[in-house]
Amino acid sequence: MEQTIKLGISTCLLGENVRYDGGHKLDRFLVDTLGSYVEYVPVCPEVECGFSIPRESLRLVGDPNAPRLVTSRTKEDHTERMLLWAQKRVRELEKENLCGFIFKSNSPSSGMERVRVYNEKGMPVKKGVGVFARAFMEHFPLLPVEEEGRLHDPKLRENYIERIFVFRRWRELLAQPKARGRLVDFHTKHKLLILSHSPKHYKIMGKLVAGAMGTPINEAYEDYEGLLMEALRLKTTVKKNANVLQHMMGYFKRQLSSDEKQELLEIIDRYRHEHVPLIVPVTLMNHYVRKYDQPYLKEQQYLNPHPAELQLRNHV
Ligand code: SF4
Repeated sequence: MEQTIKLGISTCLLGENVRYDGGHKLDRFLVDTLGSYVEYVPVCPEVECGFSIPRESLRLVGDPNAPRLVTSRTKEDHTERMLLWAQKRVRELEKENLCGFIFKSNSPSSGMERVRVYNEKGMPVKKGVGVFARAFMEHFPLLPVEEEGRLHDPKLRENYIERIFVFRRWRELLAQPKARGRLVDFHTKHKLLILSHSPKHYKIMGKLVAGAMGTPINEAYEDYEGLLMEALRLKTTVKKNANVLQHMMGYFKRQLSSDEKQELLEIIDRYRHEHVPLIVPVTLMNHYVRKYDQPYLKEQQYLNPHPAELQLRNHV
């Protein structure tokens, strides 16, 4: 049975009036579209650690690598209070089995990167990380994390959503007793997806799985998980996808008619020249996989990594 995808999210992105000025930062895509496929676990660090609504705004000051969290006008330092709360909250979140987190950008508490940090003269540099976001990412280094602003970029959106769906399948695997056969099965289904991100990881992970007999099972799972999330963080490109599609054609050598081969090659070429989006060759490939009942390819997550309704492969 498929597990629900649980995602942590900065509460204001859901339209809750929790911001310092009593407002919200509702993100329609996250709520109306992605929200149909995931269950959100809202976290508002400032309200949950005891600040009122409305409240004086906060900012990061000092060393960008270890900034202090202070109120903008009255300069009260709330760093320790936020850190203590954040440590407790990330431990609580362990029970939620999250598949990722979506942070509110530019926030001194929730921002994931490039948050303003002010020096003693009041000049900002965009090099900080929000206090809670930092604690979260240190506690869950492998979890897919993103900011709402970056998710408006179609490529970053596709990459992030693909990662949370893979992470859900990885969690489903972890819910079963660990076994080499299960790891091999998981890897086999994700091979072409991994190849579309990183041919280098594809090779390393293939060797890891093949050599898993000689490695203690917990170690093999741990190594595999690290490599999997590292690979998927690397962006796919037109070139890498075209190579995967070409590689897939090799499995049809004997079955495809010369017309079908020609048609597939033409479509891959049109994709390679960015005249059609990825969904076009993938749809044709899926058609032949079903038509010829190709056993290896029909198991490949690459062909259906996330719900088609999200239209993540429809951009050129
Ligand atoms: S950015 Fe973070 S701390 Fe600020 S209102 Fe949103 S959830 Fe709360």
